[in-house]
Amino acid sequence: MANIAIIGGGLGGSLCALALRSRGLNATIFDAGRALGGRSARSQFLASSEPHLDQVISTLSNANLIKPWTGRFGVMGAKGGFLPLSSISTAMAGTKNESPTATPTTDTGDFCGFLAHARSPIYVGTPNNSSLCTSICELVDVKVHLESHVSAATHVDGKWMLQIKGGGISEAFDGVVFASHNQTLAADAIKTLSSPPDQPEIKERLDKLSTSLGTLRSSHTSPVFTVSLQYPPAALNRVNFDAATLPADPALQMLIRESSKPGRDVNAPHDEWTGISTTVFAKVHLESEVDMVTEMMVRSTARVLAPYFGNDEKNVPTPIEARAKRWGAAFTTAPLIPSTEPGEDCVGLEPWRMVIAGDYVQVKQSPGEAMAMSGLVAGEKMASWFAGDTTKRK
Ligand SMILES: Cc1cc2nc3c(=O)[nH]c(=O)nc-3n(C[C@H](O)[C@H](O)[C@H](O)COP(=O)(O)OP(=O)(O)OC[C@H]3O[C@@H](n4cnc5c(N)ncnc54)[C@H](O)[C@@H]3O)c2cc1C
Repeated sequence: MANIAIIGGGLGGSLCALALRSRGLNATIFDAGRALGGRSARSQFLASSEPHLDQVISTLSNANLIKPWTGRFGVMGAKGGFLPLSSISTAMAGTKNESPTATPTTDTGDFCGFLAHARSPIYVGTPNNSSLCTSICELVDVKVHLESHVSAATHVDGKWMLQIKGGGISEAFDGVVFASHNQTLAADAIKTLSSPPDQPEIKERLDKLSTSLGTLRSSHTSPVFTVSLQYPPAALNRVNFDAATLPADPALQMLIRESSKPGRDVNAPHDEWTGISTTVFAKVHLESEVDMVTEMMVRSTARVLAPYFGNDEKNVPTPIEARAKRWGAAFTTAPLIPSTEPGEDCVGLEPWRMVIAGDYVQVKQSPGEAMAMSGLVAGEKMASWFAGDTTKRK
């Protein structure tokens, strides 16, 4: 049975593993973190406008790993209360957006296409988003190596070997999927691939791909901060929304009541909320002390909630605990697609059994959807190579 290495155990890598396992291939995930999940641990929702993803959504739903999230969702005006959805485009015409982004990621008044998706079911992981990738890997029996930072991947005699930082060389694999959101790693691996001397166009394609991946990493990522806020129970009961995008605020772009999500602990001692910064705010404060950023985000939250407390920030309850977290390369602001095949959800290099998957490959309604499609199609593509005649170079 073919044995495939997946570098990166975020939702993309985990869904790739699901696709490989359901087609009878072995999958081994290497992840640099202490737990699987990557950015999906703080991602707010998963949604699909792609029929191809529906099957996966039902598999996860039937296994009780995700549940639909319904709530009071909208665009909040500067004076509290929801604005009509058409106001998103008005907000976009404002100045929050520092540069045009291909994917509806941030600062646009519709965080990650949240409100556009919310017209159809949107899902969250249960009991929480952090557990989703681990549960998927347990469901389909995937081998997982945590705290395994892959520093290089090389193709030798038809097999892939991974160099693990501080941990030697991995076993040999028949194929590799790059799902790590670390485009440099894939770019470097491509440089080591040997292309046939009689086919210069293949060498040219590989060089172009490697350069595009490198550029993406160095010039087209944007940061974001999240803040986790623990309020006394019932302190924010009068706030009448569960998730709101905040086009009028310079520091925060979204505020979410975590307890409105299904499967959360109803007896939790605190009422947890999450704030997501604008990328403009994150860029300015990227190197600031996290404590200082936390304080600023708490103040911004009070400003946003003031309309529910007599228009006075001082009346807004203070969180018992608050902690900001920096996501240095949260979003990719330009897709890889112009330098790859149009319409492809992942980049497949069949002669070397190598696939590159990620939310940056193709533009979708949300990055989560782009990532889910990319991981899924990566697994299917790899499996199809092992199922058919795969000796021909493309
Ligand atoms: C704060 C925040 C909120 C978001 N909210 C939403 C949302 O609500 N909806 C939505 O659609 N999208 C959202 N997104 C985007 C969404 O989270 C991502 O599109 C998606 O999680 C990407 O998944 P991935 O598997 O491709 O990458 P990642 O989640 O980045 O996973 C990559 C994994 O690779 C591992 N890794 C990295 N380098 C190496 C290495 N060298 N060796 C081994 N492992 C490595 C990392 O540890 C990580 O686990 C959000 C993003 C952020 C940052």
